Amino acid sequence: MEVFMAKYGEIALKGNNKRLFEERMIKNIKQRLAAPLPSGARLGDFAYERAQSTLYITPLSETADFSEIERRLLTVFGIGAVQRSLALPKDYKEIVRLGVPYLKRALAGAKTFKVEAKRADKTFPMNSMELMREFGGEIWEANSHLSVDVHNPDVTVFLEIRDSHAYVCPNRLQGAGGIPVGMSGKALVMLSGGIDSPVAAYMMAKRGLSLDMLHFQSPPYTSERALMKVGSLCGKLAEYCGEIRLFTVNLTEAQEDIRDNCPEEYMTILLRRLMFRIAAELCKEGHYSAIVTGESVGQVASQTPAALICTNDASPLPVYRPVIGMDKIEITAIARKIGTFDISTLPYEDCCTVFTPRRPKLKPFLNDVKRLETRLNADLMQKATENIIIENF
Ligand code: ATP
Ligand code: MG
Repeated sequence: MEVFMAKYGEIALKGNNKRLFEERMIKNIKQRLAAPLPSGARLGDFAYERAQSTLYITPLSETADFSEIERRLLTVFGIGAVQRSLALPKDYKEIVRLGVPYLKRALAGAKTFKVEAKRADKTFPMNSMELMREFGGEIWEANSHLSVDVHNPDVTVFLEIRDSHAYVCPNRLQGAGGIPVGMSGKALVMLSGGIDSPVAAYMMAKRGLSLDMLHFQSPPYTSERALMKVGSLCGKLAEYCGEIRLFTVNLTEAQEDIRDNCPEEYMTILLRRLMFRIAAELCKEGHYSAIVTGESVGQVASQTPAALICTNDASPLPVYRPVIGMDKIEITAIARKIGTFDISTLPYEDCCTVFTPRRPKLKPFLNDVKRLETRLNADLMQKATENIIIENF
């Protein structure tokens, strides 16, 4: 019988409240596996069992799509490793009889292999060293094209003797890690259509935050397509974060007000403060504990230390900036890994790039910025928050 072993990551280190984390992770896994496929079909039913810091997930349908199940498990935070394994009786002869043929396909393309054995059940008559040597010998005899490489093998075969069964697995995959979504309360992400903010969202979901998104648009300067792009990003992020609500706020009039009444070089910083004030307002109403952004020190004029003082000041809540110390190459690598990069690089304009100053102020002073704000029509912020579009993903 084939099963998936979802081994706990950081959760395994938790103390008294470990159970709460475990339960949330299992709930998230169930939800993820229950989501329909693009065709509308379902992945089928599963049996769940937990033991020894592992959740065993057994697909009950004969025709279960194992690669899709594996793909989904790899998106659930809290799981440290995923192993698709064959569960066997704890009898060495049976392990060889069924385990060796099971490994055949995974080993067909490999040149080198090694066996890693772990005997959690110390009553099993062979120890780990013996298991590695003996089982390795059996595999080698049945696959004469292979040689053993203990340092850098093409395939590492795992043989684990646990409480109820022995498990054989030719491929241990690194899980998403982190803490199950929902364990750290909720936060509101300022989601542009760019590369950085979806990565920031992913990183905070990994710390257990349940997330909703706030997007600012400025039609007709920004297009319907830019909005659809943000929708696609939410769809992709929902694979990791669970259900997402997207709030879209229209900033056209407020942006025109800034353009018409303030010096050009301050336009971006004034717009960004407005965004943070609106975000903080929504956080208060919706009981979010923090704002999340994709800002990174020095990346653009609005993210110099002086500019960050001005934007930070506009929010009474903590602002989480998980990519603050990362460079664009590092952020891009994560965007590619999580599948948001190809969506983020679609060429649609963002409201931050509408009316971009030719020479934005690199070192704005908070007092100057606050003085300029007195020229703006305060009612426009109110108006912007009265017509929010809400979508669910
Ligand atoms: P990103 O790649 O995330 O768009 P960026 O490098 O383009 O970031 P900025 O445009 O200065 O940088 O935006 C910094 C942060 O402000 C973004 O990461 C995002 O959190 C927020 N932000 C910018 N534009 C918007 C928008 N239109 N709606 C919501 N949040 C936004
Ligand atoms: Mg942007």
